[in-house]
Amino acid sequence: MLRWSIATVSMGGTLEAKLAAVARAGFRAVEIFENDLTFFSGKPRDVRARAEDLGLEIIGLQPLRDFEAMPEPLRTRNFDRAERKFDLMEELGTRFLGMCSSVSEDSADDKDRAAADLADLADRAARRGFRLGYEALAWGRHVRDWMQAYELVCLADRPNLGIVLDSFHICVNKNPIAPLADIPAARIGLVQLSDAPGILMDPMSLSRHHRCFPGQGDHPVAQFLDAVMKTGYRGPVSLEAFNDQFRGAPVAMIARDGMRCLQMAGERLDMDRAAQGLEPLRIGAALPAASHIDGIEFVEFATGESSGFVDLLKGLGFARVARHRSKAVDLYRQNDLNIVVNREQEGFAHAFGLLHGTSMCALGLRFERPDVALDRANALGAPTYFGRIGPGESLIPAVAGVENSLIYLMGAKTDGATNWDRDFVFDSSEAPGALKSFDHFSNVLRRSEFLSWMTFYKSVLGLVNDPQVEVADPYGAFYSRVIRSPDAKVRIPLNIADGGSTAVSRFIDAFGGSGVQHIALETDDIFTFVEAAVARGVTFLTIPDNYYDDLSARFADLDDALIARMRHLGILYDRSRTGEFFQIYTATFEKTFFFEIVERRTYELFGAANTPVRLAAQVAEQERED
Ligand code: MG
Ligand code: MG
Repeated sequence: MLRWSIATVSMGGTLEAKLAAVARAGFRAVEIFENDLTFFSGKPRDVRARAEDLGLEIIGLQPLRDFEAMPEPLRTRNFDRAERKFDLMEELGTRFLGMCSSVSEDSADDKDRAAADLADLADRAARRGFRLGYEALAWGRHVRDWMQAYELVCLADRPNLGIVLDSFHICVNKNPIAPLADIPAARIGLVQLSDAPGILMDPMSLSRHHRCFPGQGDHPVAQFLDAVMKTGYRGPVSLEAFNDQFRGAPVAMIARDGMRCLQMAGERLDMDRAAQGLEPLRIGAALPAASHIDGIEFVEFATGESSGFVDLLKGLGFARVARHRSKAVDLYRQNDLNIVVNREQEGFAHAFGLLHGTSMCALGLRFERPDVALDRANALGAPTYFGRIGPGESLIPAVAGVENSLIYLMGAKTDGATNWDRDFVFDSSEAPGALKSFDHFSNVLRRSEFLSWMTFYKSVLGLVNDPQVEVADPYGAFYSRVIRSPDAKVRIPLNIADGGSTAVSRFIDAFGGSGVQHIALETDDIFTFVEAAVARGVTFLTIPDNYYDDLSARFADLDDALIARMRHLGILYDRSRTGEFFQIYTATFEKTFFFEIVERRTYELFGAANTPVRLAAQVAEQERED
């Protein structure tokens, strides 16, 4: 039966914990890696009983290594070793054994001998009702690609011997993918999926440390799955990712992420098949389609009793337009920008503020179909959160975001589902000003959480990702990857901390975890805006003079008067093929948060060229404060 599975090697922890997490994430099938049994305190039949209790089928045991084409006495010893694996399979209650191509220097470069060994072993397995799968390791001694492995399987020609198609080994060696579709389904023993970043590294190191789940890397996993399904193969599709970060992460999180990635892979597969006029396969549970994101309705800050943040908002031109009917919550507005300031002394925002200080604790996203968006979130293992509400207040469902912040799923603006009037008493609803919209907000993430949150944004919210960029920091480097809605109305640069004392790492220390480090707001006239904000008492980040000297050298056609004006105010500049960009940063608030103001003149990037000077200026700012 066509179904998702996961190899126990993809997660860290004890075998018992892995099985429980896998079942909880919605898997009904699991592949047991033999090392997991070695460290298991009970007997293999206890594993079988445990899996049965959890509703998990053990679809296979792996691996049998360095088996084929060995000289005597190693050959005889290998067959004995295989018999012991068969005994183990009997106890585990599984019928399938995965073997991988030999890496042994003793193995002969002899196709006929290798095929004869496979045939012999298959005959022995058949007597016990077992099936075998043969997989080409990308770094195998003589068999490195699926075409070679398939040739051996065909030469051996046994009904209970099939090829194991592992997307990693096939993609990493850039083996042809489309011809996979011509393999008869009966010759396929098992299909394994994983992904990997598109970095230059030897295949074995990449495989053992950096494999990730489908959609988290750069391999053409979708084409692979599409080709394999065209064979008519309808057996299990198993995740197999060796990854140090995964093994060090909470097992429940990794199992859930694995299922999310598979569900997305299944969704993509059926979209690709529909485009080719093929029937959908609906592997696992059907996933409600991602709802179109209409934009950001509001962001909410937990501030406690601290008034400094409100002063900053006012300085940026925000006005308090409404008070909550039953809570110490105010609505600050400027044009379409809504910032909710939560001063409650109990409840969610208060708890968030205690942990992180003044911080963005919630985000309200507008969806075309919030009901469908919520169904999708639930189907992807993101449960609904309903907050404490007062009488007559609207109930807005939310899901948990980074560090248990909340993401509210709201209706599109046009259908009046934003509910402000029901919950808030307005002094005025109009709040004119120079700031027009949310441009982006940056998430700073621990490296160990990065793939997990990228998967969350892509699967649960239906966002897409841009390629990764590396950013120089005075104290090291960090990585940044932009996640955005398909129409770019919502943009979230994810900045990944790799430890050390980079700004990103210092944020994690000061904030007490991952979180939103800055929010960028867009204006049509940054110069007028900044002058007005300075007059209202806002302090902006001091940019070193050298930056402006360098600017006139980099952009020779840039007007001197314009540079002088930027220098005077601390505005940064960038230019791309499509346009010009002006940006400025406020001084950092409570060592963690700052606003960025941007003016885009048909420019679509984020001013990454200016990030190093911003980081250096923030280091200087911090040193002045310390
Ligand atoms: Mg494999
Ligand atoms: Mg920015």
